[in-house]
Amino acid sequence: MIKRTEGIHHITAIVGNPQENVDFYAGVLGLRLVKRTINFDDPGTYHFYFGDEVGNPGTIMTFFPWPNAYKGRIGSGQVGVTSFVVPTGSFPFWEERLKKFNVEVTKSSRFGEDYLNFEDPHGLQLELVEREPGKKSEWSFGEVTSEVAIKGFGGATLLSARPAYTAKLLEETMGLEKIGEDGEYVRFQATADIGNIIDMKLSPVPKGMMGAGTVHHIAYRAKNDEDQLDWKSHVESAGFGVTPVQPRQYFNAIYFREYGDILFEIATDPPGFTLDEPQDSLGEKLMLPDWYEPQRDKIEKVLLPFKVRELD
Ligand code: ZN
Repeated sequence: MIKRTEGIHHITAIVGNPQENVDFYAGVLGLRLVKRTINFDDPGTYHFYFGDEVGNPGTIMTFFPWPNAYKGRIGSGQVGVTSFVVPTGSFPFWEERLKKFNVEVTKSSRFGEDYLNFEDPHGLQLELVEREPGKKSEWSFGEVTSEVAIKGFGGATLLSARPAYTAKLLEETMGLEKIGEDGEYVRFQATADIGNIIDMKLSPVPKGMMGAGTVHHIAYRAKNDEDQLDWKSHVESAGFGVTPVQPRQYFNAIYFREYGDILFEIATDPPGFTLDEPQDSLGEKLMLPDWYEPQRDKIEKVLLPFKVRELD
């Protein structure tokens, strides 16, 4: 059976102070905070979701902001670099904007594309790439208008502990197509027009350590609950141990660790972030799933307050 994921659903990273996180991703990068909720496995801490106007699959960057987290180390067994795609012709705007906020930018290129590389305040490695495909975000915030706004993920660079095994998984199990090699990188493509490129570094990288400034996991898309159960047996038949379905309120999730030590998730596209809030006011209130609602007062007391604010 050939199954193909459409591409990346979301990427989740560990960072530090919540206000610093929100200031960078909303204030500087102009993404929309589409949901403020808690880490369902650790309800005393936030889980933030950023994306386009509704947080469409392929645009969702999520964070566990742990104010006292130890700094991690980026290395094998992780996503090393997260790429965001911006409209063609918007690089001058972004170079100027990042400079304005004292973000150090370097330039690189691979597979014939130019990249702007930089770090977030907690050391997460990010890059921007200009591409034509992918609809423009309808969200604008401060000076980041829809014309230049991040459209979603360009993709991710995987740092696998065993690149040959990870390549086999991506091609044979996840259904991505290998489209080329460039120096120390190999590139795979999924079917969506956003969040569809996975690069993998072929050269060895020292082992990563989880902590602030590192990606926790990468999630790929399943069409719905039924498709996700198909994915579960499909991935199990390739020899991986897959978790039972975990309800994440805005999608359902299954997880498995691949042979390159990277934590993979497969998440359903529905129901999405308008499940419990109207699109107009997404991300403005702390949303809790029913099973945590009785503890709201207690939970709100331990969370650090923060504001989504324009920094222009
Ligand atoms: Zn996830």
